[in-house]
Amino acid sequence: MRKTYHIWTIGCQMNVADSRHLASQLESLGLSEAASVDEAGVVVLNTCVVRQQPEDKARNRLQSLKPLKKQNPEIVIALMGCMVGEREAETLPDEYPFVDFFLEPSKPDQLVEFLRSQCGDKVLPAMDELQDYHLPDSEENAVCAFVPITLGCSHVCSYCVIPYRRGPDRSRAPEVILREVGALAAQGVREVTLLGQIVDRYGMELEGWNLARLLHEVCRIDGLLRVRFMTSHPAYMDDELIQAVADEPKLCPYFELPFQAGSNRILKEMRRGYTREEYIQTVGNIRAKVPEAGINTDIIVGYPTESEEDFMETFRLLEELRLDVAHIAKYSPRPRTLSARQDDDVPPEEKERRRVLLDELARSILTEKNKKLEGETVTVLVEGFQQKTGRWRGRTAQGNLVFAEAAGTEDLAGRLLPVRISWAGPYSMIGDVDESKRI
Ligand code: SF4
Repeated sequence: MRKTYHIWTIGCQMNVADSRHLASQLESLGLSEAASVDEAGVVVLNTCVVRQQPEDKARNRLQSLKPLKKQNPEIVIALMGCMVGEREAETLPDEYPFVDFFLEPSKPDQLVEFLRSQCGDKVLPAMDELQDYHLPDSEENAVCAFVPITLGCSHVCSYCVIPYRRGPDRSRAPEVILREVGALAAQGVREVTLLGQIVDRYGMELEGWNLARLLHEVCRIDGLLRVRFMTSHPAYMDDELIQAVADEPKLCPYFELPFQAGSNRILKEMRRGYTREEYIQTVGNIRAKVPEAGINTDIIVGYPTESEEDFMETFRLLEELRLDVAHIAKYSPRPRTLSARQDDDVPPEEKERRRVLLDELARSILTEKNKKLEGETVTVLVEGFQQKTGRWRGRTAQGNLVFAEAAGTEDLAGRLLPVRISWAGPYSMIGDVDESKRI
C-alpha cells in the first residue's frame, strides 16, 4: 500500500474538522498527503446528506473511484460522514462493494486501526471522539482552526437527517477543549471557531458549564486573537451568551443564527421550537448589546405545504431584519425524517423561483451593507497570501472576506491589520493595508 492519503470533504465545518482530525491520525502513522487522488494509497470521502444535492455529489464522486479500485486493488477506499448512519452501514456495502470501510461521522477508528496494523502498530493519539482533535502536520501554519465542542443533535427538526446520522447531542469535556485550543494557539493558530450543530446548547449535561463560561475561558488563552462559535439555535441564544460577546474583546461579533422560515405555521411544522416574533426579539437583543454584529442565517424554501403567503412571510422577515449573509436551500426530503412522510408538494420550478427571489434580496442587502465600508478602515486577520491576485487574504471579525495589498515582503499571515477598503462587493472586498493606522 502506498503511504499517501487523499481526503475529499463536502458539507459543514464539522466535516472539515473531522477530516483534519483524521488527516492528523494518518500522518501520525507515517502517511503523507497525496498530490492527487490517483497517487493516494488511502482515499476517504467525507460526505454530507443534509440535502439531496451534496448526497448526489458524494455518490458521483464515489462511483468515480470504482475504476481506480479496479486498476489498483491495493488502494484502500473509505466512505465517512453523514452518508453512513448506523442503519446505512448495513446496506451500503451491497451498494458499493469496492469500498473497504464505512465510517460513521466522527468515528474513523476502524480505518485507523486497520492502517495501524499495516504500519507496524504505531502509538497514536486518543481516538475517542470526545478526546483531542488535532490539526494535521500539513497544516502546521494554519491561522484558523475549527474545534468541535458538541457532537450530534437531539433537536430533531422535522426535515433534518443529522440526528439520525450523528446521534444525540453530547458536550465534549471543557478541560479537553481548553487543552486542545491551548495546543493550537501554541502551534500558531490565531483564530478558533468552536463548533456544534446547536453550539449554544453546550454544557447542558455538564454541571456548572455553559457556552458563555467556556467562551470566557477560551478567550483567556494566550496567543489567540479571535474566537467564534457556530451554529447557534435561536431557542438557546440567551442574554448571558450575548453579553459574553459584548464583553470579550477576542469574541467576534459574529452569529450564525438560522431562522429557516418566516411563517409561524411552517416553523411549527418544522418543529423548530420558536416563533417568528421570538426570532425577531433575539436578533433585537443581539443588536442592542452588540450593535456591530454580523448575523448570518439559513433559510429553506419549498417545505411541504409552503404557500405563497408562507413564502412571502419568509421574504418579509429577511427584508425587515436585513441579516448579513443568508444561505438559501431548496427543501428536499431526507430519509427517515418526519417531513419525508409528507407529500413534497411544492413543484421544483416554484422552489427555484422562491430561492432566486430570496437570493436576490439577500445579495442586495449584503451589497448595500458592504458598499458602506468603501473608504472605511476595517480590521482583518490575515489568513494567507493569494498568489493569483498578489494580495493578502483575510476576514473581518464579522466574517467578511477581504483581499489586501501591502508594501514590502513581510509575512503578514496571522496578523491583525487595518485595511482601508477601496472596493466592496457582496462576497468580498479589496483594500490596502493602512500603514498610518498600523500598530
Ligand atoms: S437543530 Fe434541527 S436543523 Fe440543526 S442539526 Fe439539529 S435537527 Fe438538524
